[in-house]
Amino acid sequence: MRQFSYSRPADEKSAIEEVSHRKTTQFLAGGTLLIDLMKLDVARPERLVDINKLPFAEVKTHGGGVFIGTLVRNSDLANNQLIRQRYPVLSQAILSGASAQIRNVATTGGNILQRTRCPYFRDTTMACNKREPGSGCPAIDGYSRMHAIFGGSDDCVAVHPSDMCIALLALDAIVHTSGDDGERKIPFEEFHLVPGRTPQYETVLRPGELIVGVELPPSKFAAHAHYLKVRDRNSFSFALVSVAACLQLDGKTIGDARITLGGVATKPWRLRDCEKALIGKSVGKETFAAAASAGIKSAKPLKYNKFKVELTRRSIARALEIAAAGGVS
Ligand code: SF4
Repeated sequence: MRQFSYSRPADEKSAIEEVSHRKTTQFLAGGTLLIDLMKLDVARPERLVDINKLPFAEVKTHGGGVFIGTLVRNSDLANNQLIRQRYPVLSQAILSGASAQIRNVATTGGNILQRTRCPYFRDTTMACNKREPGSGCPAIDGYSRMHAIFGGSDDCVAVHPSDMCIALLALDAIVHTSGDDGERKIPFEEFHLVPGRTPQYETVLRPGELIVGVELPPSKFAAHAHYLKVRDRNSFSFALVSVAACLQLDGKTIGDARITLGGVATKPWRLRDCEKALIGKSVGKETFAAAASAGIKSAKPLKYNKFKVELTRRSIARALEIAAAGGVS
């Protein structure tokens, strides 16, 4: 691990100033991923600015919804009463990820900024366009079992790894940031970027811009939502495919729907075609099967991940059935 310097500012302005003015400086919150990447020599910050003294560690009500501070630990968020009652799909998604020990330390902001688990990205002896722009992408013709079937490009097909983000997208979250240029509110769907020709850029954050928290507007999906995660083993494993299925029902009719996917796309992925196929229809296996088929039409699998297309179709249909039944399998 390379040497780095460290500071722990007591206020937001000083923290932002430190990171904005030096390219090689990064914010540090839980550190569960950043320290890993530093040990692997993938991340090479010369200075870490620890933000743990800043006042962003609360979940509070906000305009009919809730506001989640960037430093709220994943465990605290998943077990928060407001979240469990009003946004159960978020609680389920968080609890399906990582281990209890990691969730106790990992933060909301850090989870949103999770880096991919692509094995080539984490191995500095290999080429990788995301780590070293222009060096190539060995995953495209190589080991692609875990890679994306949605949102990939000729330069990168790495999957976004977060579970929490899949639920935040389904819940129409808004990311609040603060930076040199002032504050911004960024709709979650616009926050992450597809790789295109520049996979090294993963979000719309500007240099030195700090996530201060996430707003969740009031949700109509509390009664009928489910997060389904399919993985190689049932603990401490990243998704092969995950689905946040959220329904708003008027009797047996679907009034509104959100279907978002993890484990299969280069960013948290919303399936609008699938949602369109649900709205106005009656709940039932046939409706769910048709919507799931509509959802996978745009999938573009690679050599070793063709199985993900059918797995995604079945997972969407299953998640919808569970959501319609009240969210408990
Ligand atoms: Fe790197 Fe992306 Fe290719 Fe993985 S898929 S090797 S992260 S460029």
